[in-house]
Order: sequence, then structure tokens, then C-alpha cells
Amino acid sequence: MDIQPDTCPRCESAGPEILSHSPVEGVWTVYHCNVCFVTWRSTEPDFITDVQKYPANFKFTPADMAHFDIMPAVPVLKSR
Ligand SMILES: [Zn+2]
Repeated sequence: MDIQPDTCPRCESAGPEILSHSPVEGVWTVYHCNVCFVTWRSTEPDFITDVQKYPANFKFTPADMAHFDIMPAVPVLKSR
């Protein structure tokens, strides 16, 4: 059985939640961060699941999210 992480590996917010479990009990668990919306499976490599090993180039803080662009970009309305 997996030990539920207490911190999101990407944004380091507390309290990731369980999103789903493997169809065969105890094989894997998918966790979800309600702050940055990342999901990860417990069986992924440690550079995905471990907050200390998550690639620094892909990390951000919850405060950074206020400055993210809208994806996909919303085009300007065409005038008639
Ligand atoms: Zn997060």
C-alpha cells in the first residue's frame, strides 16, 4: 500500500488528495493537487513523485499561477 504524500511535488502545496486507485487493489494510486492541478501515479519515477527530486525547471509556486497566460489563448473577436 502506498503512503499518501503530504506535499505536491510540483508546487509544494500541502494536502494532495487521492484521485483514484488501481483496478487491482494496492498496485498504484493516483494523487491530485487541488492547487496546481497536477496528477501523478504512485508508481512513477521518483523525479515525479518526490518533491526534492522534481525537476526545478517545472516547479512553480501557487503565487506564480496568477501570472500564467490563458491556454489556449482566446483570440480577439472579429469585427463584422
Ligand atoms: Zn501542486
